Amino acid sequence: MLEAKLASKSSIDHKSEIKLSDQVTCGGKELLIIGGPCSVESKEQMEIVAEKLSQSGVNMIRGGVHKPRTSPYSFQGMGESGLTILAELSERHDVPTVTEVMSVEQLQAVCEKADMIQIGSRNMQNFELLKAVGKCNKPVLLKRGLAATIEEFVLAAEYILAHGNPNVILCERGIRSFDSFTRNVLDLGAVVALKQLTHLPVVVDPSHAAGKRELVADLARAAVACGADGIMIECHPEPEKSVSDARQALSIEEMIELVQSLVPIAQAVGREIAGIKSKRQLAVVSSVSRKVAGRAINRKALVR
Ligand code: PEP
Ligand code: MN
Repeated sequence: MLEAKLASKSSIDHKSEIKLSDQVTCGGKELLIIGGPCSVESKEQMEIVAEKLSQSGVNMIRGGVHKPRTSPYSFQGMGESGLTILAELSERHDVPTVTEVMSVEQLQAVCEKADMIQIGSRNMQNFELLKAVGKCNKPVLLKRGLAATIEEFVLAAEYILAHGNPNVILCERGIRSFDSFTRNVLDLGAVVALKQLTHLPVVVDPSHAAGKRELVADLARAAVACGADGIMIECHPEPEKSVSDARQALSIEEMIELVQSLVPIAQAVGREIAGIKSKRQLAVVSSVSRKVAGRAINRKALVR
């Protein structure tokens, strides 16, 4: 990858660790675990998500407010009012947030209210957007294009780096193939290759790859086992009622269980989960999350 001068490794152990908040980084020993719904739907929904996840090893909250939908008639996202919900929960629960930008015009408001900018798959080669985020002083989560080669993916990251922003995290989210059983094909080979080729952290999104909730947890565990620096998972207080991507959403309790199941895998590959560094702490977290799982969700609060 001769052209990717800035993204390429300068030596075998060249790795970048990217700061996302005072406590959270990506690319170091601790895994980045991002959880939250596909779309921000209401303050009440996001409050449940943030309260439960921020106590359970999830160190970043996601939620789309500008949604790239296949149909122009589908929900397009809450826009700026959704950004305010993200900013308030971040403050209240002391947890950083990530959300997508689809255009240069959306960038300033997202930079002001979120801790990381997501460039979605459909915009991986929106070069004007890549140049604009290159000029921002915010970490960027760059998702692999729907049918992008590894080289195209790395060169898209190079655009951001070349325009002055060194804080890029790559996200493998599955690529198009002939098999429609899964939504996309999760390319874990690309995760290993990207870790060998570049110094950038690599996060895996098994939710958009699988498209089916029953496949998500095993793929997340495989991602951690093969060296990913983090995972991003869609989860929702009432998964079947998600306004977007309902079929792939985990419940909050399933997400908490998934994080717990990652602890021994993380340890086996020399990584840690935030706040869970020993078996003793795991026991404490398990008992807290059992209590959280037992608490009934206030369904009234979820009505938009
Ligand atoms: C998302 O993360 O909400 C999303 C739309 O993902 P992708 O760009 O990978 O399809
Ligand atoms: Mn989604």
